[in-house]
Amino acid sequence: MMEKLINYTTEAFQSVFKSEPESIFLAPGRINIIGEHVDYSDGFVLPAAIDKHICFAVKKIDDSETCTFFAIDFDDSFSFNINQKQTPVSQVWVNYLLGVFNAIQEKGKKIGGLQIAFSSTIPMGSGLSSSAALECGFAFILNQIFDLNLTKKDLALIGQKSEHTFVGVKCGIMDQFASVFGKEHQVIMLDCNSLEHQYFDANLEGYSLVLFDSCVKHTHLTSGYNDRREDVDRGKKKLWEKFPEIEKFRDFSFSMLEEVRAEIGETSYKRCLYLLKEIKRVEKAAKALSEGDVKYLGELLIETHAGLSTEFEVSCKELDFMVEETLKEEGVSGARIMGGGFGGCSINLIKDENVDEVIKNISTKYKTYYNIEMKVYRVKISDGINEYKRNKFVI
Ligand code: ADP
Ligand code: MG
Repeated sequence: MMEKLINYTTEAFQSVFKSEPESIFLAPGRINIIGEHVDYSDGFVLPAAIDKHICFAVKKIDDSETCTFFAIDFDDSFSFNINQKQTPVSQVWVNYLLGVFNAIQEKGKKIGGLQIAFSSTIPMGSGLSSSAALECGFAFILNQIFDLNLTKKDLALIGQKSEHTFVGVKCGIMDQFASVFGKEHQVIMLDCNSLEHQYFDANLEGYSLVLFDSCVKHTHLTSGYNDRREDVDRGKKKLWEKFPEIEKFRDFSFSMLEEVRAEIGETSYKRCLYLLKEIKRVEKAAKALSEGDVKYLGELLIETHAGLSTEFEVSCKELDFMVEETLKEEGVSGARIMGGGFGGCSINLIKDENVDEVIKNISTKYKTYYNIEMKVYRVKISDGINEYKRNKFVI
């Protein structure tokens, strides 16, 4: 599949720019095994890069002041002058890239002329982070081709900054971090505040990671986030008033939370309870995964779904249905809604030999109940952004 994407991108480059690309880069999407909504609360997340990529075919154009992009999937192109400061434009996809250019320029780094054509196997807007792959992929390319001396951490932060300033999405750092730092067969336990991280082996022991895309996205996404943030902040404020010696939110105990329960009210209590439990689940899940205890890992995913559904209240009827039905199937160790909520994908741990049957049954049920064709993505944990070396594969 990767070879197909590379060939397709290369051919598009040839036909648009009438020359050969000099290098090929692959930037992956990501999944998050567990650790949802905890990134703003001193929590850990457990993402991994996957085998779905944006492929970039690139050629350096010496003595040129122009950088040209061709977005193959949109059949759309854009050029800009590399000696001028850029501002956001009306083509949304361009802003992810211009924001990267701007962030790099602000660091006092200089780039030269380029031609880039890119195409993707990461579904857009499904929660697999095509946006992080796009922005960090471009940052990686510039760093590589123009020897900018940026660290991997810089690349992730540049990607995030681009999204904040040029696209207007106040995203966390997990997506960019996973796309840049991913490693084959490994998950990353990441503290989104300090960016401290640790790799754990992903020993899936004959289980597959399968995503079911509900193809629904409910509109209260933004207001939902803001409400949750307010609920959580109310709880945090009281907790720190009462226990000022505690440094990080994750260090509050359940009994401390219990002590402020009456003051903060049930809603705020439920939200904070979910967060404290979820942060602990991430640590347990990393250990379970590295020990190949897929059964326990599955139980943790199920707990997370229940927490997101009843305590944090960010699920929706379609995802609850999907997860509930999936858990009735043979060979399923765990299932949960993945991402911010109110729609998107579920992530499922399914025994290899049962995958086809589960997919068939759940698609049929989902179609019957909601009249929606769900999409299915089987994913493997893969390396982060990298230059593709032609001699590695025969293409
Ligand atoms: P997600 O990151 O979950 O896929 P986002 O809404 O954050 O969803 O990012 C999707 C946006 O990223 C697209 O609307 C588009 O602007 C840009 N994008 C992603 N992939 C591509 C691509 N292959 N070609 C052009 N733009 C892309
Ligand atoms: Mg995104």
